[in-house]
Amino acid sequence: MGTFKAVVIEKGEGGQSVALRSFDEADLMDGDVTVRVTHSTLNYKDGLALTGKAPVVRRFPMIPGIDFSGVVEASSHPGWAPGDAVILTGWGLGETHLGAYAEKARVKGDWLVALPASLTPEQAMAVGTAGFTAMLALLALERHGLRPEAGPALVTGAAGGVGSVATALLAAAGWHVVAATGRAAEEAEYLRGLGAAEIIGREELSTPGKPLGRERWAAAVDAVGSTTLANALAMTRYGGAVAACGLAGGMDLPGSVAPFILRGVALLGIDSVMAPQALRREAWARLARDLDLDRLAAMTTTIPLSGVIERGPAILAGRTRGRVVVTVD
Ligand code: NDP
Repeated sequence: MGTFKAVVIEKGEGGQSVALRSFDEADLMDGDVTVRVTHSTLNYKDGLALTGKAPVVRRFPMIPGIDFSGVVEASSHPGWAPGDAVILTGWGLGETHLGAYAEKARVKGDWLVALPASLTPEQAMAVGTAGFTAMLALLALERHGLRPEAGPALVTGAAGGVGSVATALLAAAGWHVVAATGRAAEEAEYLRGLGAAEIIGREELSTPGKPLGRERWAAAVDAVGSTTLANALAMTRYGGAVAACGLAGGMDLPGSVAPFILRGVALLGIDSVMAPQALRREAWARLARDLDLDRLAAMTTTIPLSGVIERGPAILAGRTRGRVVVTVD
């Protein structure tokens, strides 16, 4: 066993510190598959881990990074053999289990999904946890019976990771996408390029509104939470649904039950971390089939592993556009 390069978070008396350093393979946690990580990404939760702004890291030292693509190096799991191309999102990676910002990861084979044949490892991570979550939201809306004929679909936090992929996926599925962003001046053209039909300012949703508003959309994918989610619900058409994915604007939900009991609106909870394997495979198959790869490229920037620490604060400040791929290999 040797050493490899990793971003490592340590906790001492003065708080947490984070550095790119060498890590001993013998200190990896238990798992039946060892993966040579080639790509990871920067998600909002990675920003929380890197900066220590919220207690997402549950053991120290921790290698952050909640998702990766890579190649199996060694396996005692019956489903995986050396050379297999794999992806992993969630399951506590980068939170409770040593994570993806490293040249090697040892994980449970049951957590892995095969890299779809039509995606490169880099494209799979351009999707990453954020894009996978956007697809879970679309699947939940469809399971609720919603189709583009029902009316427009709102996406909040549209210029971020979840929002960009949700915009592209909903537009490709034929929805009239209303993209809500705090960066309309800079990002309107970008969002139209992803397929948004209308752009609205974040402030239309982020100030407290009435229990019921004008019925503006039939479906919504919300990455923001708080007052934005309450207003998204209040403006959802009769029988519509809102898929709640995120908390970029806050964890509270200061609304009323009026949309539920007077309009039959549904609030659909979306969790990517513990999503069961069958749902993961369905979501990745749909992503591979439906996501326009040119639009995916348009929303993606790539940084090296050595650049990830300094990018943590930017994603929390809402200054990251679309998706950020981290090249590890
Ligand atoms: P990003 O930072 O890329 O996107 C978040 C976007 O939200 C920003 O780009 C910005 O979009 C908007 N935003 C940021 N701050 C505020 C604010 N104070 N008020 C209103 N809008 C704001 O993050 P991700 O896309 O990676 O994640 C988005 C959210 O989804 C996070 O809360 C994350 O924790 C959650 N998430 C949940 C998952 C799950 O399993 N449920 C999985 C993945 C992510 P704009 O500039 O366009 O307004």
